Amino acid sequence: EANRVYNFNPGPATLPLEVLKETQAELLNFSGSGMSIMEISHRSKEYDAVHNKAKADIKELMGLGDDYDVLFIQGGASLQFAMVPMNFAINGKKGNYVLSGSFASKAYKEAEIQGVGTVAASSKENDFRNVPKQGDLKIDPNAAYLHICYNNTIYGTEYHYIPDTNGIPLIADMSSDMLSRPLDFNKFSFIYAGAQKNLGPAGVTIVVARKSFIENSPENLPTMLRYNTYSKKNSLYNTPPAFCIYMVGKVAAWLKKQGGLSVLAERNAKKAALLYDAIDNSNGFYKGHAEKDSRSFMNVTFRLPTEELEAKFIAEAKEHKLCGVKGHRSVGGLRASIYNAMPYEGVKCLTDFMEQFRTANK
Ligand code: PMP
Repeated sequence: EANRVYNFNPGPATLPLEVLKETQAELLNFSGSGMSIMEISHRSKEYDAVHNKAKADIKELMGLGDDYDVLFIQGGASLQFAMVPMNFAINGKKGNYVLSGSFASKAYKEAEIQGVGTVAASSKENDFRNVPKQGDLKIDPNAAYLHICYNNTIYGTEYHYIPDTNGIPLIADMSSDMLSRPLDFNKFSFIYAGAQKNLGPAGVTIVVARKSFIENSPENLPTMLRYNTYSKKNSLYNTPPAFCIYMVGKVAAWLKKQGGLSVLAERNAKKAALLYDAIDNSNGFYKGHAEKDSRSFMNVTFRLPTEELEAKFIAEAKEHKLCGVKGHRSVGGLRASIYNAMPYEGVKCLTDFMEQFRTANK
């Protein structure tokens, strides 16, 4: 435990220490079975309880009722980029996309490959420093859905509103901010997230969708690419990524224990404010990438005066047990990912270091 660092990686990312310890304690003998969760049949009663509790806790945290279902799918959020248009952009209808960053653009590209993508708005010309505003959205009134990426992991921007689509089903990639704050999730028809940021290890993608939206999938799609295969079979048509789902369940239970999404949102806002204040009060030494009204609570992106100083910052940060602060190659600079499991003390340690580094190098 003393050897653990503050891990600011964007994903796979830091997990709650309590969850890791619990997992360790249960590893050799899960629930009196004499086996680890990785060795138990996915048709056993022990696994069934884990699976169903994870689903129920996610729905409870999101304040969703019986009209929503939770699915567990493999292939990462990237497979969802392809499955979404396959399942929904059918019968001549297109998928309408807001391009707010790399992953939003990758999602659109998969629709384009299928010949069914259109663009409602883009912030590319602004280096993805902002999330398009409601007034910028030219939503196709005949679209099958509007697809948005709620938090843009690489650029460090996040929606601070839920787009009004005038009745078009809203689909959101929430890979990097799922379960980080309460929202009126009933406004979304379909939400998905790769688990490896806020939810657990890589290997499972969580889909939360309105049941009526996913009950009919095109019959000509392969079985594993149809959402209704998962919804009809409780995500147990084939062997699910049982260990990942178990971990996601543990994280969801941990979130409930903390007091739910409003408590997390408050903590996350405090952590983000600490970092953004350090940037804003640095006399221009640190420069944030995102425009202020689009700033992410999860991924804080910023630059230093030169690339040499950025490299020096990353190297020296490591000596302070501050890891994973290098920005994505497409933006450069620094990025601190401060998901649910990053404690306030970790962010404080980073901002203390930032101030110390600035004083020594300005
Ligand atoms: N969407 C977002 C917002 C992401 O941050 C990522 C991963 N960094 C992805 C999609 C792709 O996820 P995966 O690697 O699970 O396919």
